Amino acid sequence: MKLIAIDLDGTLLGRQDQISRKNATAIKRAQALGVEVAIATGRTYREAVDFCRQAGITAHVISSNGALVHSQAGRKLLAVTIDKQTTAHIVSWLEENRYYYEVSAEGAIWSPEYGRQWLEQEIQQFEQSNPLQDLSQLRSEAGKIYRSIKLVDRYQQILEKNDSYYKVYVFAANAMRVKAGYAKFGDSEDLTVVSSMDHNFELMNRAASKGNGLKTLAETLGISVDRAVAIGDSYNDVSMFEAAGFSVAMGNARADIKKNCNMVTDTNENHGVANAVEHLMQLYYG
Ligand code: CA
Repeated sequence: MKLIAIDLDGTLLGRQDQISRKNATAIKRAQALGVEVAIATGRTYREAVDFCRQAGITAHVISSNGALVHSQAGRKLLAVTIDKQTTAHIVSWLEENRYYYEVSAEGAIWSPEYGRQWLEQEIQQFEQSNPLQDLSQLRSEAGKIYRSIKLVDRYQQILEKNDSYYKVYVFAANAMRVKAGYAKFGDSEDLTVVSSMDHNFELMNRAASKGNGLKTLAETLGISVDRAVAIGDSYNDVSMFEAAGFSVAMGNARADIKKNCNMVTDTNENHGVANAVEHLMQLYYG
């Protein structure tokens, strides 16, 4: 074990969206033994760095589902973007179908102001038509949305901001609307679609994935990716599970994710990352 790549939401972060002291300590201990540690997340680079800083750790960062890779020192190692024309194509379809969405670009996440209204309406409708369903997952996902996002009056303004974009995040309460997104973009030659949770889908350049990000990082560090360990909980982690030599599923991951991993650890609430890292350090470094 020379390199560990760790997902954030549902993996390194607990319910309060924080890295526990126990998880931070395990990461520092691994680093002290010479193991390289990377955060691998769908979130932006800035968010990942902030979470690490709050926990008093530093790490390499694979962000926006692998569209960006930064070294621990902050050097940009990889940027795989969606061009403006393709972004315009995506956004106009989302507008037509009234999805809530966010576009990640250099330095900011953009969203149209009226999107929030669409989001509220979609959640309300879903709640009314599914009165018996457990909505905790939906609420938790929607709760993550109101972060530091820059709002524009017209969606066209988003396209005036940059020449290329890292990721488009789309929220969908109804599973049919997630499916519609996959049906529209899943076979695209330029794009890849992944989901980090039940009620979303995210679009990136086809070459961007956590797995490819991990390969780039390993190469830069001069480490064979076979000697990397990947820890995660969801479908957007599968590419890094496949790229790494050893895969660890969180206890809170779905059964089909767990089934395909080499090891299952505790839940994110119970410091599953720390427990897996301690276990592997014991195994490799005694
Ligand atoms: Ca996750």
